[in-house]
Amino acid sequence: MLIWIIAEPMKWNITMNNLIRLSKSIISRAEMDAVQAVMESAYLGMSIQTRDFEKEIAQYLGNDRHVVCVNTGTSALQCALQAIGCGVGDEVLVPTLTFVACFQAISATGATPIACDVDIHSGLLDLHAAEKRITPRTKAMMPVHYASHVGDLKGIYQFAEKHNLRVIEDAAHAFGCEYDGKKIGAQGDVVCFSFDGIKNITCGEGGAVVSSDPELIRMIQDIRVLGVQNDTEKRYSRKRSWDFDVTEQGWRYHMSDIMAAIGRVQLTRLDNEFKPKRIALAKQYRELLKNVESVVLLETDIENVVPHILPIRVIGGKRNEVRDGLLQQNIEVGMHYKLNHQLSKYHADAALFPVAEQLYQELLTLPLHPDLDESEVADIVGSIKALV
Ligand SMILES: *Cc1c(COP(=O)(O)O)cnc(C)c1O
Repeated sequence: MLIWIIAEPMKWNITMNNLIRLSKSIISRAEMDAVQAVMESAYLGMSIQTRDFEKEIAQYLGNDRHVVCVNTGTSALQCALQAIGCGVGDEVLVPTLTFVACFQAISATGATPIACDVDIHSGLLDLHAAEKRITPRTKAMMPVHYASHVGDLKGIYQFAEKHNLRVIEDAAHAFGCEYDGKKIGAQGDVVCFSFDGIKNITCGEGGAVVSSDPELIRMIQDIRVLGVQNDTEKRYSRKRSWDFDVTEQGWRYHMSDIMAAIGRVQLTRLDNEFKPKRIALAKQYRELLKNVESVVLLETDIENVVPHILPIRVIGGKRNEVRDGLLQQNIEVGMHYKLNHQLSKYHADAALFPVAEQLYQELLTLPLHPDLDESEVADIVGSIKALV
């Protein structure tokens, strides 16, 4: 579970029925049928469903991209870092305002995550702050498309080129989003997606790495199956490797056909169903909240994103009051994210992150998922108005 829910979302006197959920998997009969078909095929591991899901993601993104699917978004990030040669002694720039998955994926390779401050208007990596954190050991940067907004992606790539850094985009929030007329993932160095239970599309759990470099993708195809060379091709033709070689550290990170079958159906529902619904709800929130006292909306590009979460800023020291008031009314809210530099394992001096520290006092994530309806959004905003 990747949301950090503030306080207990369910008090003893609250039932599940009238709780407005923060996020949710949206599963139809079609996903259940697809899973049943895999069950009946009696081949549940990684095989043709995963292969086809990878092809369909590549087609969806366009631009002749290569795709490799893994078991989580976190392992996608870790495999991508390993494949670009990140390891002990290397440093990776990453915003402190992100899911701890980013930090764990970096430290799992032996490299050191270097927390950076973020921009007050968007919560995205602040390149000026990041520049101050560069050392001779800096090898890569991991910008996070926070709340599905990518900000100045061109600027990020110019920065990376200037400092000779690889870029691993954490696009866990941004599947289906567009930038500069192309899908996120259709361009860029290495782009990682998550298909966990509440993302824009889900496999139950899952992730993918996307790149134009066939050699990098081939490496990750091996890394995800314990480093067993060419095992992916064999599994895709329902064979196994009995005689093989291993030349590097691998992990048990492949995607099963059960997960891929769910993802394949979800992908067909994204543009017609999930995307318009998420955009409409986010637009409604923004319209209703734009003039509300003490509420500040984050910068976004609403026509081109598929909003995964809806964080707002509640300024004037009123966030906790609004949060507790909404929770009391059975409206589940969240906080994306606990700052990573505040964690014991990744601790760094708070003075380096004045903006993130401020946002940490102001951010509040409101419910957003395709099963939410307009009247619920209106009610939530009504409650916020009453509370501020
Ligand atoms: C969901 C998420 C991940 C990791 O994905 P999992 O599939 O849950 O491992 C990484 N970064 C961000 C910002 C996320 O929201």
